[in-house]
Amino acid sequence: MKTLNDFNFENKKALIRVDFNVPLDENFNVTDNTRIVSAKPTIIKVLEDGGSCILMSHLGRPKGVQDEFSLKHIVDEVSEIIGVTVKFVPECVGPVAEEAAKNLQPGEVLLLENLRYHGEETKGDLGFSEQLAKLGDIYVNDAFGTAHRAHASTTIVAQFFPENKCFGYLLAQEIDSIKKVMETGEKPVLAVLGGAKVSSKITIIENILDKVDHLIIGGGMTFTFIKAQGGQVGDSICEDDKMDLALDILKQAKEKGVKVHIPVDVVAANAFSNDAETQIVDVTAIPDGWQGLDAGPKSIENFKKVVMESKTILWNGPLGVFELPTFAKGTIALGDAIADATKAGAFSLVGGGDSVAAVKQFGFEEKVSYVSTGGGAMLESLEGKTLPGIAAILS
Ligand code: AMP
Repeated sequence: MKTLNDFNFENKKALIRVDFNVPLDENFNVTDNTRIVSAKPTIIKVLEDGGSCILMSHLGRPKGVQDEFSLKHIVDEVSEIIGVTVKFVPECVGPVAEEAAKNLQPGEVLLLENLRYHGEETKGDLGFSEQLAKLGDIYVNDAFGTAHRAHASTTIVAQFFPENKCFGYLLAQEIDSIKKVMETGEKPVLAVLGGAKVSSKITIIENILDKVDHLIIGGGMTFTFIKAQGGQVGDSICEDDKMDLALDILKQAKEKGVKVHIPVDVVAANAFSNDAETQIVDVTAIPDGWQGLDAGPKSIENFKKVVMESKTILWNGPLGVFELPTFAKGTIALGDAIADATKAGAFSLVGGGDSVAAVKQFGFEEKVSYVSTGGGAMLESLEGKTLPGIAAILS
């Protein structure tokens, strides 16, 4: 398999699948440009080699052509970040797009219109993929956020570049980070799984039991495990139909020598509200009318110790309802501990869903080793699935 650095793009046109699915405000200003910034190194490599870039992406979920989803809205932002005046073509396939691609000179960047204006994109249509393929000489996939989709631009198009395809730097870094946790990570390896429900994390838990030495279970998932073992969880979120599964997970963990750490105390509230009355209670004795919404102080101390002893750390899911400041302390304390462990030499990966939001909100982004850019793609990787967008480059 060739990497981006194996290619010299001089006088070549790189057809790059980027993930520019960025949030826009009502005036179509980009409100979070992380994804554009993340794609910059790959684009710069091509330009510095003396090549040109044809950038393709989706934006939102348009139903056919809808102006609000046009990528024209982000042209200025992309130009500013890349440092090159980006050209825009209001099509992604067909004669107009082909002409624009043909006329592109070394050092230039062309942004195509939203791929999802064509239903063929998400269907992974072969003919549509072939039309995309006509635009460039080398296919580069740098869109981790869509790597779990077998769409035309993320997967199918790769077959038209049997020798000339590779991952961009961002996607390569995502793959490398997951590998560091799941395969090559220095022991002890710790996974912290929080979030709301056991049901959404089962496949991840089952997959990582073979990879980790320690597993911290926190957040709303806690209560299914506690109730399954006979504890009183009051009005806390609990999936009664997943209690057998919780017991099975604990049994499997024991058999595999994985140490499971579950909160011993919680911040219980008499309502799901930032202004609710709260009390610290034993996790197995939450009174009726009260619900556990954050990890308690003893739990946090226990978790900190485990984090500080770990050399490789995966964090997915908050320890409490971090969106409400009253119940954010556990998540912040965990972030602090992971930041400290990272400073002391551990490798830490944060990925999938709300933990990324929490990490950004509380300023841990620069203090952990890597924050994944892909929600669903990250979760599917942790579940042990081979993502189609990755397989297409490897094959
Ligand atoms: P997930 O997307 O599965 O990582 O879940 C994240 C969500 O879990 C966040 O919105 C949190 O507010 C929620 N959450 C965390 N702890 C609790 C809890 N103890 N009770 C209810 N929801 C929780």
